[in-house]
This record gives sequence, structure tokens and C-alpha cells, in this order.
Amino acid sequence: MSERACERTNEHSAFADATDPCSTGDATERACERTNEHSSPESMLAAVLVRRGEPLSVRSVRKPVPGPGQALVRVRAAGVCHTDLHLRDGVPDSPPMPLVLGHEIAGEVTAVGSDVDIPIGERVLVYYYDGCGACDWCRRGLENLCRTPAAKWGFDTDGGFAEYFLASARCLVPLPADLSFAGAAVLGCAGTTAMHVVGAVGKVAAGEDVVVIGAGGVGLAAVQVAIAHGASVIAVEPHPASRDRALEYGARLAVDPAAEDVVAAVRTATGGHGSDVVVDTVGNHDTPGQAVLMAQPQGRVVLVGYTDRPAPVAVVSVVTRETQVLGSVGATLADAREAMALAADGSLRGCVADEYPLTGVNDALARLAGGGVVGRLVLVP
Ligand SMILES: [Zn+2]
Ligand SMILES: [Zn+2]
Repeated sequence: MSERACERTNEHSAFADATDPCSTGDATERACERTNEHSSPESMLAAVLVRRGEPLSVRSVRKPVPGPGQALVRVRAAGVCHTDLHLRDGVPDSPPMPLVLGHEIAGEVTAVGSDVDIPIGERVLVYYYDGCGACDWCRRGLENLCRTPAAKWGFDTDGGFAEYFLASARCLVPLPADLSFAGAAVLGCAGTTAMHVVGAVGKVAAGEDVVVIGAGGVGLAAVQVAIAHGASVIAVEPHPASRDRALEYGARLAVDPAAEDVVAAVRTATGGHGSDVVVDTVGNHDTPGQAVLMAQPQGRVVLVGYTDRPAPVAVVSVVTRETQVLGSVGATLADAREAMALAADGSLRGCVADEYPLTGVNDALARLAGGGVVGRLVLVP
């Protein structure tokens, strides 16, 4: 798959970000301005969060050495996520600092611990959540709910905004042969989250109707994953370019919530019954309540986008229609493997907007904060 398979897709839903989606950067030029700062064999360049709210410091740090169970990954692409802005700005809380950010990581294995049998040179996606492996949730394969995770890379432990990244070998997922590093990295967060929403939590089955509210990164991936499950998908999204992208990905209808009553539109489009599954990737004040009203009796409403404020829901509708309201957080290692399998057969595509060198990390964060980024910005350390 091309690294620029979809250059015009809104990674983050226009519900939150409705600025011009077509602003283009000069990333190709920037990506060629690789730094000539050389790292010694024992050191590497990394973008480090040192102080809350301040630009990341691109500096030379000690290059990690893999111990038992670990692998050293030469980072080839690292996606820049809105979460990185929140971490930088300490919203709601500051992470431990100094911290190398970056949780959407793809690269090549360059060294392994003595007990690790991954071949040197293996191309891998990093599953960013290193569960303890021992608690009841980990034993059920639900590392995303682990009671005492060993690491959440890029959140509480050094991540992938660096030339090299140290991971637990068990969290590395081989890349399909024709999937680029950048194309893989952008699926590491949104793509895996969509797998969890649609599969493990939503249990979407062939022939079902699925509404996806919000056609940002997770939403567009959810559209594709639901279709891969055999569902018929309706997207709800105010931004025209993102609606077009949802249709291109196979949604049968894309509804503009600014132009029409979305609940009525979904009911009409589902023969008056409502949808089997509704996925809310936005989670603002209004969308959970709309999602509940879009679902048919015993329908599943999966909340994955969220706000830290209460959102009103018609409880009488939940009760009288036996609506199942479900939450979904992150993804599991199994979801990451399935995302790569779907990417391998072309069913799941990620969206790379632009590439930046590691030294351009603060430019990338500023551009992301300014809105209007179409697709994911990717660092190429
Ligand atoms: Zn992310
Ligand atoms: Zn655990």
C-alpha cells in the first residue's frame, strides 16, 4: 500500500475540527531535510517532553539495550496523535517526565534479548500496551484492561518519537509485506481501536446495519472494519471531505448532522427500525443520546469517543428498547494482529497526511493543534 493512499482524509473528526481539510504542507521537502546530527553507537536522537506545555526537546539520549524478552526497534515511522498534544500540555494530567512521546510506531528490529527469536530486520508494528501478562484481564487477552501494565509506551514509558525504541518482544506484530511503515504506524492507534470497537465489543455480524458517528481516524477505520465484517454501514459526519472518504471506503450512506435530523435519517435508511449497532467515535454532549435513539430494540451502542462532561441519554428509550450501551477502550494485541491482517488484504487502509523528520516534531504538533490536518502526520526519524 502506498504511504499516501489517502491524502485527503480527515484523521480527526470534523465534529471537533471543521477547518479547511485541504491545506497541504511541504512535508516532502521537510522530510528530505533530515538532520545531520549524528548519534553515536551508544546514543540516539529523541523528542523528549521535559516540561508541561513546552515544545519537545529533540536531543541526544542514551540508546537502549534490549534485555531478556525485549527487542530494539529502529523507528521508521511514528504517528502524531491528538493524545500527544494532551500529554504535552498536561491535559488532564502530566505524564512522568522526561518522557519520549509516540505510541503509533512501526520499524525494524535491530537487536533482541538473548531469549527472543525475532529475526533481525523484521518489519513490525508496535502494540503500545505492555500488559503485565499475569492478571485476570491479561490472561483473557484483554491487556487494555490490565490492572498493573508494565508500560504504556509513549504515555508513561519512553515511546517512539526517537531513532530507536525498546519494546517487549511479545508486543511486536509483523507487518504485511506491502504495507509501508507510515501506513502501518497510522493504523497502530486508530486502526486497532476500530478493530476492538467493531469486533470484540460491538460483535458486528454479517448483514447487520452499523452506524458510525464521526468519520475521523477511528471512525473511518471503523467503517472499513465493519464492512470487512459484512455489515452495511451508514456514516454520520459534518465534514464533506470526510463523508466522501467514508463513501469511498464503502459506507452506503453518509449523513450530514448539520443539514438533517440524523436520528430520523438513520431510521429512514434502516426501514424505520433503527440500526443493529451504533458506534459513537465522537462522544460530545449530543452524540451518545443520538446513538441510543438510532439503535433498534436490543441494539448495541458502542461508545469510544468521550467527553469528561455528562451527556444526556434518554433512559426510557434504553429501558423500553433494551438497548445495550457498551464502552470500548483501546485495543488488544489480538486486535493489532487482526488489523495487520485486514491491512494485508486491503480491507483496512490508514491515511498519511504528511511526513516530518524527527527534528520537525514541534512543527507537526503545532500543525495538528491548528486543525485542518487531513490524515495522520507521521514522523520519520
Ligand atoms: Zn493515538
Ligand atoms: Zn495484566
